[in-house]
Amino acid sequence: MSTTIQLTANSIENVPRIVSDKKYIHIYNGKIAILLLLAILSGCKRQQVPIQTPQMDIDPQFWVRVLLLDDIETCTLKMESSFSITDDPNLQTQLPTAHFDKIETPIGIRLVNGQISIGGRVFMNEEVIVYPDEPYIFNLNGQYYRGKLKLFIDPESGSFDAINLVPPEAYLAGVVGAEMPTYWEPEALKAHTIAARTYCLYIKKRFGENRNWDIRKTAAHQVYRGVRAESTEVWNSVNQTRGQVLVCKQTEGTEEIFPAYYSSICGGHTENSINAFGDSFEPLIGVPCPYCKNVAKPNMFFWPMIEFDNAYVVGRLLKRYPNLKHLGKIINIEAVAPSNYENFSRLTKIILLGSNGKSDSLRAEDFRLAIDPTGRKLQSTMCQIVKRGDKWRFSSGRGWGHGVGMCQCGAQGMARKGKNAKQILSYYYPDSSIISIY
Ligand SMILES: [Zn+2]
Repeated sequence: MSTTIQLTANSIENVPRIVSDKKYIHIYNGKIAILLLLAILSGCKRQQVPIQTPQMDIDPQFWVRVLLLDDIETCTLKMESSFSITDDPNLQTQLPTAHFDKIETPIGIRLVNGQISIGGRVFMNEEVIVYPDEPYIFNLNGQYYRGKLKLFIDPESGSFDAINLVPPEAYLAGVVGAEMPTYWEPEALKAHTIAARTYCLYIKKRFGENRNWDIRKTAAHQVYRGVRAESTEVWNSVNQTRGQVLVCKQTEGTEEIFPAYYSSICGGHTENSINAFGDSFEPLIGVPCPYCKNVAKPNMFFWPMIEFDNAYVVGRLLKRYPNLKHLGKIINIEAVAPSNYENFSRLTKIILLGSNGKSDSLRAEDFRLAIDPTGRKLQSTMCQIVKRGDKWRFSSGRGWGHGVGMCQCGAQGMARKGKNAKQILSYYYPDSSIISIY
């Protein structure tokens, strides 16, 4: 991957995409009723998902390290199969330090004198790995995950992290079912699976080398819920796209994966990545999207006007960006250089003017998330901003999320019109192609 890409901590490392099935419900009420009826008629059978975890023998370079719990002092573990635990420094040897039978009731994991204790047994090294036997599933704090569990002590903070080491296809099954309603069109699910596989492997490659984990389980990266997100539909999508990722041509002529961002509802036009995050890739240039409007709930596609007190806005900005204090008091906020589409536009750059005559700027996406980190009120930068007295008014809002790359509702809209996954992906990521990496 090119090393010339300039990415800030505010770009792909902090890209919340709020995920909720609720926004999709209105159009599917009829379909949901039918599904419920079918579930009742079939005796509410559990959906069939693979019991066995696939790819446990895949090359270690493809394993995904998901940060499940960060800086914790205690958690609980339950194992429904026999399992091993090792703190062997050469963890690839997989030689168990201890082997245990399944445990029916949760046991505690905590630090005892700076060492990891699992069910009262203390391990001496800072890294401990729990290896479930078949079907390679463990339960951490009540949630089931596939693969292995790594515990890593941070001696400075006196806490530890819990990391899920999971083969890529099992990881994706836990992502796609969390990011997209599983009753959506199979081709939309497949497009999503390929985008999510690409995004994950890019983040792993770009950032994983410098830390003990590759990717977060939240919308800061992409939502991962482990086994509870799985369904037959999701596994079909994962299996039918096995190993497929998106690539684009680099200036040197090679083809490489890129951060295949996606967002919930683009609002009518996707955004060039350079405007939202400051990074540039040919497939992330922004395209018209006439497809999401008929899929998204109307009050999610057009979000309601919202006002924030000036003091609140300034306070949030200074909290997120303390170096803005060099402006003295922030006396004005001005949006410049919006991306203009036919009847609407997206803010891209915000100029902040200080009482001392100095000015500074922020990307509009960073400005939005500084004011509303959840993105639930200020859903997107596709809006207008005006000062009304001592308040800032955000109006004419459209879409949900940063708007870069594939529009999730748009993918569903295209699939409903008969487009397949490849067509959906080549629309939202122009000049990309699909290759298989395993
Ligand atoms: Zn869209």
